[in-house]
Amino acid sequence: SRENVRGFLRRNLFVLFTVAAVALGVILGFALRPHNLSLREIKYFAFPGELLMRMLQMLVLPLIVSSLVTGISSLDSKASGKMGVRAVVYYMVTTLIAVFIGIVIVIIIQPGKGSRDSPVVNSGNIEPVQAADAFLDLIRNMFPPNLVEAWTTALQFVSITSHMYLLTQETVEETVPASGSSNGVNALGLVVFSMCFGLVVGSMKQQGQALRDFFDCLNEAIMRLVSIIIWYAPVGILFLIAGKIVEMKNLAEVGGQLGMYTVSVIVGLLIHGLFVLPLLYFLVTRKNPFSFIAGLLQALITALGTSSSSATLPITFRCLEENNRVDKRVTRFILPVGATINMDGTALYEAVAAIFIAQVNDMDLNFGQILTISITATAASIGAAGIPQAGLVTMVIVLTSVGLPTEDITLIIAVDWFLDRLRTTTNVLGDSLGAGIVEHLSRAELKSQDAEVRNSVIEE
Ligand code: ASP
Repeated sequence: SRENVRGFLRRNLFVLFTVAAVALGVILGFALRPHNLSLREIKYFAFPGELLMRMLQMLVLPLIVSSLVTGISSLDSKASGKMGVRAVVYYMVTTLIAVFIGIVIVIIIQPGKGSRDSPVVNSGNIEPVQAADAFLDLIRNMFPPNLVEAWTTALQFVSITSHMYLLTQETVEETVPASGSSNGVNALGLVVFSMCFGLVVGSMKQQGQALRDFFDCLNEAIMRLVSIIIWYAPVGILFLIAGKIVEMKNLAEVGGQLGMYTVSVIVGLLIHGLFVLPLLYFLVTRKNPFSFIAGLLQALITALGTSSSSATLPITFRCLEENNRVDKRVTRFILPVGATINMDGTALYEAVAAIFIAQVNDMDLNFGQILTISITATAASIGAAGIPQAGLVTMVIVLTSVGLPTEDITLIIAVDWFLDRLRTTTNVLGDSLGAGIVEHLSRAELKSQDAEVRNSVIEE
């Protein structure tokens, strides 16, 4: 039990460090604001944060591939099929609930009512994108013709359509360089490939053993790297947050409609993250959701600091496996998929933002249009890469599907960096609780696999 005590201390010390880092970051950030640092000075100052971002993202690719291949190949195809269906049902249900909450809240609060605060910024005539194009692109991205390229594709959404890219170039210039240089990936294509590969390797019996051992070993090695990097995480988070606070525009400007819009998104995320998801977890597992969430604290704070669910993935793995003792066969399978396609926070935000923009334009939406928004917001959240502010760009899908002016995205840019952090945290929370729920539902399959493994060992 001395081991236990030590482990407990170490875990909580980390959490304490991480929370302290956030607090220090906020204090330091506000203390430096009056000094009006230049952009260059801010960049130097935030450098330790940039390093953390890069270290985490460095691990994401090998982590996704090795965990999916080992996770899936260690299950028989029936078990992984069942688990996969459960995960997808969970993803769909929770995403739709999130969209629904967003819609209800933005209709109640009506943040966009009244005459518009800011003039329309006209960025030229852009051919509208059909929702169908967006869906086809989503599917297209699942099958990257060039794996190496998929691994290095900086921004998944650049491929969505050239129109969109043109349209959002302004937006992209303002928001994307940070993520572009931090090397996001076409994770969706990679996930699909690794899953198929894992299935095949799993079916290869004896012959596939070398590959299973290889990926298993790779996965283990990456996780050891994670446990080194995690020591640096609090420092990185401190500077990520402080840097952003120094950089942000004057908060006093965010009043009126934009302020109410921000409040709507926050209220929605809080209801979804602190009430709906925990309730669902409790209903399914009958365990205390908040002690589960306590084990996730470090991942949630990392999401807040990095605004990227894929950069957070290594920490999410660690929290679930080490603190919450979720079965590795579940985390390896479910987490990479979740970080890529399950984004409750993003879906909620897309719905709120679209209806907000409709309200600002005095456009009354009918039921059909609201339904269209829910469907496209879901698609846009699936299609968004887990990188900073990807959701802002996939917003275009939602807006064009109901004929809203896409240039109005500029109305919400000012607060997006902030909302991005909150929705990313919600995304990571949804993925993690999902892993807990799927593990609980898959108890029987996991047990029978254990028995099989034991039997085969005895036979040998
Ligand atoms: N930044 C979010 C994430 O990584 C995606 C988004 O922009 O909504 O989960």
